[in-house]
Amino acid sequence: MTALSWPPLRDALVGDEPYGAPQLDVPVALNTNENPYGPSEAAAADIAEAVREAALGLNRYPDREFTALRHALTDYLNTDGGQGLTPDMVWAANGSNEVMMQILQAFGGPGRTAISFAPTYAMYPEYARNSLTEWVAGRREDDFSLDLEAARRMVEEVRPAVVLLPSPNNPTGTALPPEAVSVLCEAAGNGIVVIDEAYGEFRREGVPSALELIGTHRNLVVTRTMSKAFALAGARVGYLAARPEVVDAIRIVRLPYHLSAVTQAAALAALRHAPELLGKVDDLRAERDACVEWLRAQGLEVADSDANFVLFGRFADRHAVWQGLLDAGVLIRETGPEGWLRVSVGTPAEMAAFRDALTTVM
Ligand code: PMP
Repeated sequence: MTALSWPPLRDALVGDEPYGAPQLDVPVALNTNENPYGPSEAAAADIAEAVREAALGLNRYPDREFTALRHALTDYLNTDGGQGLTPDMVWAANGSNEVMMQILQAFGGPGRTAISFAPTYAMYPEYARNSLTEWVAGRREDDFSLDLEAARRMVEEVRPAVVLLPSPNNPTGTALPPEAVSVLCEAAGNGIVVIDEAYGEFRREGVPSALELIGTHRNLVVTRTMSKAFALAGARVGYLAARPEVVDAIRIVRLPYHLSAVTQAAALAALRHAPELLGKVDDLRAERDACVEWLRAQGLEVADSDANFVLFGRFADRHAVWQGLLDAGVLIRETGPEGWLRVSVGTPAEMAAFRDALTTVM
């Protein structure tokens, strides 16, 4: 411990800022990949009623195993790529961030390594830092795809305890080729391979989910979230599917009653409205494709996207572009490689505001 510093942060945290996009009050917020369409009145009323019922029992701790929610999540996953998943193969926490943090707590730690391929989700090194796990970052190609052969070799060399790979990737939007999951699960040996499908529901027609491979690879974990396609970011519910023994290992590190009765009730009620909550996914995909096309027509470089956001560039001074958009009331994200910016897909009106603002700024 350095005697002079106060508060006595451990060295790895000195100089670090809390993670997170600026939360600014702007007319058009397209910076955190939320679903721009909130739940309907009918869904909100059911969620409110479920929370009211839960409120009557708030003197008691909630079900630590969130049994009803696990059943409902299992049923949902079996409709979207999962094959014969059972509730003992499903786990949830307050956002998929917490799910992945728990994975690092269970399988990472001192003397162990976690790996991903940059540019990728900026929270991954933070899970490693917070769990005292060594962090190694490989690289993606210039078009943000993964050189699978190089990735396989690197995983075999580094022997990571945890591989973290989003598909589609954030901030680039790039999905993994279907064969990547099996290649990396085999290369990882006893290491856990997390396929982070936070944006999985936005994948193109015909692209498989890694969920179908859980029966094939005992070291595969697929994470999902209710924050994106499900339009429930405010509820903080993320979840995973994996072999029962992997779920049991994660149960060791979870804090008791980590998922509140209010959260469980809200998520369960929301899942009864899944078709409706997910009903805007097709519209958002179409809006995304139109956005990619429009940006390319402006002569910009645009990464292919399977998600609900688009990475575009390259700007000599991206901060000036970001600031110009903000001055026009449109907040996007200054993230990814230098020169690039990321815009989340919003409503048609929000995207029109974005296009107008960008045209003025460029
Ligand atoms: N994974 C990826 C790739 C993300 O972009 C995000 C959120 N931006 C998350 C996981 C975490 O989301 P949440 O905690 O809301 O589930």
